[in-house]
Amino acid sequence: KVVCVTGASGFIASWLVKLLLQRGYTVKATVRDPNDSKKTEHLRALDGANERLHLFQADLIEEGSFDAAVDGCEGVFHTASPVLFSANNPQAELIDPAVKGTVNVLKSCVKFATVKRVVLTSSMAAVIVNGRPLNPDVVVDETWFSDPFFCENFKIAKWYVLSKTLAEEAAWKFAEGNGIDLVTINPSYVIGPLLQPSLNLTVEMILNLKNDIEDVNSSIYLCSDVRDVASAHVQAFEVPSANGRYCLVGHVIPMANVLKILHELHPSLCPPEKYEEANPSEPTYQVSQEKAKSLGVNFLPLEVSLRDTVESLKEKGFLKV
Ligand code: NDP
Repeated sequence: KVVCVTGASGFIASWLVKLLLQRGYTVKATVRDPNDSKKTEHLRALDGANERLHLFQADLIEEGSFDAAVDGCEGVFHTASPVLFSANNPQAELIDPAVKGTVNVLKSCVKFATVKRVVLTSSMAAVIVNGRPLNPDVVVDETWFSDPFFCENFKIAKWYVLSKTLAEEAAWKFAEGNGIDLVTINPSYVIGPLLQPSLNLTVEMILNLKNDIEDVNSSIYLCSDVRDVASAHVQAFEVPSANGRYCLVGHVIPMANVLKILHELHPSLCPPEKYEEANPSEPTYQVSQEKAKSLGVNFLPLEVSLRDTVESLKEKGFLKV
């Protein structure tokens, strides 16, 4: 079977390509610059890549850019989207590539009758930012949609959050209007081992949590392991009954608990004063795992994800051994 992965050099997509090759698929993978060895070498080194990985140049903001990669594919995994938490020109740097790019990829999908299903990497950013109260009795689930008004007033990464919300909205609208079988995977902060040599934003955050968190005891961390996220994408394509959206959140956990674990794994990730200040507690709301589990996702324990993230940061030279 032939499938397409957009933005294949990225953190999540690299794991997705690895899993797809392991499962015997032929993968048509898009990158912005196939000649950039820093972005492609780790993909070319994957088991099965020599025989079944084909790289294509494509850019989200170029009309028709994905046609060649999508042609002949049964499944299309659209993961490419800018992951930036600040931008000088949010429209050009975030909103346009996310929204127009998604529609651009979907337009390629309607051109080729081989395409049976599209799996879109959306985000919890497109689920949770709607002003509804969050408390320990609340279970956030797939029926929640972020509201652009609240996104624009959100305190963290508002333009990124808005870009993911508008992109998913546009995807559903286009899919419904054009008869596309669309499934979305909506992860929270994704962590886990890196396949590529560079840092992605959410793994880099682990290095800086101690600096970025003002009030350790009132912050909540939502995370998923990249291996669970990648396997959820594969399942979303392979399970015939998969449909709609899937919240993919392994853990909703107070930041204080995370800092305590990081301190034990590598003290430099949590200095003594933050460790002292941190007061582990219960999560202040829940995210439903029911639908994700129905896909066969077994969430890795938080300790395993954090341990493997830290090991990977050491191995790639971002943390002292
Ligand atoms: P990365 O930054 O590692 O990957 C992003 C990918 O998007 C890169 O391959 C990048 O290509 C590509 N891309 C960006 N802009 C363009 C463009 N104009 N044209 C073509 N490709 C482009 O991010 P992640 O792996 O973390 O994220 C992947 C997806 O998952 C994104 O859609 C993100 O929103 C979503 N997501 C991520 C979460 C996380 O915590 N990491 C959580 C929830 C959702 P290039 O290599 O050329 O720069």
